[in-house]
Amino acid sequence: MAKIAEGVSFIPGQDEFIPDSHVYVIGNPASGDLSLVDAGLAGKGDYKITSLQAAGIDLKSVRRVIMTHTHFDHIGCLSEMREKLPGVELWVHALEAEPMEQGDERTIYGMDMFKSMCQMQYGFKPGAFRFNVNRKLQGGENLEIGGMAWEVIHIPGHSMGSIALYDNSRKVLIPGDVVYADYAIGRFDLHGANPTELKKSLLKLAKLEVDILLPGHNQIVEKVPRDYIRETAKQWEPYLG
Ligand SMILES: [Zn+2]
Ligand SMILES: [Zn+2]
Repeated sequence: MAKIAEGVSFIPGQDEFIPDSHVYVIGNPASGDLSLVDAGLAGKGDYKITSLQAAGIDLKSVRRVIMTHTHFDHIGCLSEMREKLPGVELWVHALEAEPMEQGDERTIYGMDMFKSMCQMQYGFKPGAFRFNVNRKLQGGENLEIGGMAWEVIHIPGHSMGSIALYDNSRKVLIPGDVVYADYAIGRFDLHGANPTELKKSLLKLAKLEVDILLPGHNQIVEKVPRDYIRETAKQWEPYLG
């Protein structure tokens, strides 16, 4: 686990033939109130928990997992992790929380072909991702957690209920799979994706002042160039309708 800024650390994803999402640990350690942003790929729960322990984190101080969105590579190891994190809450945007609570796994797997592949590879049965969500986010909330303030921004397009978390005082943005390093953006062909919405979401994020960009995969960016997200949106505009 690597510290990025005060109250923000990072457990890099361990990609297999399917990517494993990064986990960000947010909250000031002294607060005893830590949040994980995303969980990761199925089979990566032990790795994520061991990384927390190796960093000296008391697992009892982990109070909640906030999902940037509920794709398989982000939520796949949630139940493995919850075995070691008793009482941990799950916070998800309402547009993905409600179907998930009803056992609708279309967003989790994204497409039927991928669903069959994951179920075969990992032995998941239908209903494996029917989680109860403790807090349904809408976007626009100002979360006061762990001695920090994080704004929730609804950024649909990659998935219906994608959110970003933004720390305005440190200019840190956690955008899930909406925008990455190297002018890359998330795919927009899975269940619930929408290229027009994705474009709008990128333009919404482009208005923020961002110094540190912490995406769901690949490189993190600790010195974000000025207008980086606006430039990324511009490059992708012809493909986003
Ligand atoms: Zn995704
Ligand atoms: Zn992902």
